[in-house]
Amino acid sequence: MNSELNSKASGHVALDELFQTKGYTDYKWINPKEIIVSQWARIKCMFGCGKYGNNSSCPPNVPSVAECEKFFHEYSDAVIFRYQKKVDKPGDRHKWSRKVNSDLLKLERAVFFSNYPKAFLFFMDSCSICAECTGERVTCKEPRLSRPSPEAFAVDVFSTVRRFGFPIEVLSDYSQAMNRFSFLMIQ
Ligand code: SF4
Repeated sequence: MNSELNSKASGHVALDELFQTKGYTDYKWINPKEIIVSQWARIKCMFGCGKYGNNSSCPPNVPSVAECEKFFHEYSDAVIFRYQKKVDKPGDRHKWSRKVNSDLLKLERAVFFSNYPKAFLFFMDSCSICAECTGERVTCKEPRLSRPSPEAFAVDVFSTVRRFGFPIEVLSDYSQAMNRFSFLMIQ
């Protein structure tokens, strides 16, 4: 048991070095079994979000809520990365998030090649790799690059990140700094 814990700790140290080398400093290691998955998060996708049925990585192109919950329980480790950003106008948000998510894909790949075959990334928002999304999983134009957001997997992001000590509030306008979170599943 002790050797298992030691090996886990040394794995964290190696990945901490990797994250910091790539400029990631605002993150926390978490137990993925404490990620809060909720039916209400899926209902909010279905009613009130324009991405529903229009993005190949969003509901209904994702597993059921029960399957999402099972998925998180199959991991021993995860990392939540936080990004804070103010934009001048709403349109600037997309360019910024495309760049952040593209860099995260490179990080996921580096983690995979560090001998973590189950490495899986959740973008900090819905996939926007392409200028126009096909809206269906089977016709996704970049299936190797597309990833879901945590919300698409029914994660209650507010409650989950608060549980791990990140402050987060609902924002009322663009003069306030956004708080975005991506999740990296590791094992
Ligand atoms: S890669 Fe392109 S087509 Fe696939 S989910 Fe992302 S934006 Fe849509």
